[in-house]
Amino acid sequence: MTPDELAIRKEMIATCHKMNAAGLNVGTAGNLSVRLPGGYLVTPTGVAYERMTPEQIVAMDFDDRYYGDFYPTSEWRFHSAILKARPDANVVLHSHALHCTMLASCRMDIPALHYGIAAVDGDIIKCSGYAPFGTPELSVEALPALEHRKACLLGNHGVIVLGPTIPKTFQLLQEVEFLAHHYIGTLMLGKGVMLSHDQMQVVLERYKTYGKQPGEFQRAEAPPEYQIIPPERGGDRLP
Ligand SMILES: [Zn+2]
Repeated sequence: MTPDELAIRKEMIATCHKMNAAGLNVGTAGNLSVRLPGGYLVTPTGVAYERMTPEQIVAMDFDDRYYGDFYPTSEWRFHSAILKARPDANVVLHSHALHCTMLASCRMDIPALHYGIAAVDGDIIKCSGYAPFGTPELSVEALPALEHRKACLLGNHGVIVLGPTIPKTFQLLQEVEFLAHHYIGTLMLGKGVMLSHDQMQVVLERYKTYGKQPGEFQRAEAPPEYQIIPPERGGDRLP
């Protein structure tokens, strides 16, 4: 095992811990895979995250062979199928995040009620049909629900998110769970106002340059000279 691979294995375990600590998963229901040259690493089956060690992470190839002494998660089939079908994804993260799973049990898609849905590269998060966990049929359900997007709900089951790196994929899980929670809350308040296709196109365009904002700023030569107004003249009290 190279130092790079060991670092990835450690990051995978840390992400499982973070996912549970953030309330984005229950027990060991979640699982995570990361693409490597010629195959991928995936979390093992039946190992509590607190006891998981880097050696227990399972290396697999795309001929469905595993290496080492531990079995992969029972959901290795959809990890494999997604990594094969989606060269844009290096990381696949699955969890039973509560609000995502509530919507998944109602077989409800998440519509564009909040612009943040653009994080999945689309204006909807689709819910797949149901298939039993660990079966090839579940991959058949998940793949079309993920088409052109980086997340889907799994019917009566949970959620899958994809990304280029582990941190970005974890962040997307947080965002999708926010969107699910937000959608449920909006439904409870009444009828939300849907963003139009055109409005979402503007957001999707802006997301492509998010954090770069070309042409919106000019770099100043020196920091601004702030003028501090004393409290007696209506300014904030200084500490
Ligand atoms: Zn699951």
